[in-house]
Amino acid sequence: MTAPSPETIAARHGIATDTAWRAVVPPLHLSTTFAHAGMGGKGPFDYARTASPTRALLGEALAALEGGAGAIVTASGMAAIDLAFAPLPLGARVVAPHDCYGGTWRLLDARHRKGTLEVAFVDMRDPSALAAALAADVGIVLIETPSNPLMRVYDLAAITAAAHAAGAPVLVDNTFLSPALQRPFDFGADLVVHSTTKFLNGHSDVIGGVLIARDSAAVDELAWWANCTGVTGAAFDSYQTLRGLRTLFVRIERQQATADRLAALLAAHPHVAAVHYPGLATDPGHALAQRQQAGAGAVLSFELTSGIAAARALTSRLKLFTLAQSLGGVETLIAHPATMTHGGMTEAARATAGIGPGLLRVSVGLEAADELATDLSAALDALA
Ligand code: PLP
Repeated sequence: MTAPSPETIAARHGIATDTAWRAVVPPLHLSTTFAHAGMGGKGPFDYARTASPTRALLGEALAALEGGAGAIVTASGMAAIDLAFAPLPLGARVVAPHDCYGGTWRLLDARHRKGTLEVAFVDMRDPSALAAALAADVGIVLIETPSNPLMRVYDLAAITAAAHAAGAPVLVDNTFLSPALQRPFDFGADLVVHSTTKFLNGHSDVIGGVLIARDSAAVDELAWWANCTGVTGAAFDSYQTLRGLRTLFVRIERQQATADRLAALLAAHPHVAAVHYPGLATDPGHALAQRQQAGAGAVLSFELTSGIAAARALTSRLKLFTLAQSLGGVETLIAHPATMTHGGMTEAARATAGIGPGLLRVSVGLEAADELATDLSAALDALA
């Protein structure tokens, strides 16, 4: 049989493999420890911080979907990002986008201020700024595309080639699209990270992360660090995330179709100053997104003509858009990045990145598209 397609991997990985009871759905193994057959007779699992059957299944499925050699499932997306830096020597230089997720910015800024890492935040739209950042010795380059929350699309092949020419490996945060819409290893990336909290689990009921490596030596090194520092994820969380993953492809396809419709609605509204969504033909990232993504995704952001006051009025009027952090769930969420997801950045850093006080981010869910459109139109029309 030929290798299963990604949809089949998501729907079936581990299905009907239980040898104890022939359970169709892979059982949840909560045991923290596994018996040895005798002294020196360790089985495939030993102690669940190191590895556990339920976590292993999720990691295998995610590594297969991304096309990597293996995965380390962690307790959160931030734990997975931090794990990628664990093997770096003290004081190693990290090149990161200046407009990344606020939590990633905060982590790198804190490590930089403590002196454990040196961090260069750059505008990755500017090849000369990137080249200047790569001129010194670089430990790793982080790419986040599309970026959170401005949906800027970065050229995976070009940035990866520049990083490799400078001798640096590349870590890509693929949280916003998932492997259903983008596979960074196809563009030369060395590591892929996800907040599985988002589209991969998809139901806003698990915090989790995963770090996937293209080659097995890197998987082994990262697994060693994950066990050493104890950042690995809980079995129950892996079980839930694997359950969510089963429907990834159908969820994201439908959520994306609705996002496309809402982006067009926003772009045509007189109270909207700008819409950031690579699915729009007018978006600066549109052509690149068509080359490196299989779709524009289900997250968009926009700015209103009358700034923060209008943003406050809009979010309070919306009924089907819950004002909350996070994204990628079955329910539609709206967030105010400056005070919520990117509140951990300094005001100056937000200004440099282009995250203004009037920016709103929407993660489109699975509600009826007509009802979301009606709700959004009514709230926009009611603005002064
Ligand atoms: N990466 C991106 C792009 C994110 O949006 C987030 C969270 O919003 C994270 C990483 C961190 O993930 P977690 O909240 O699971 O730690």
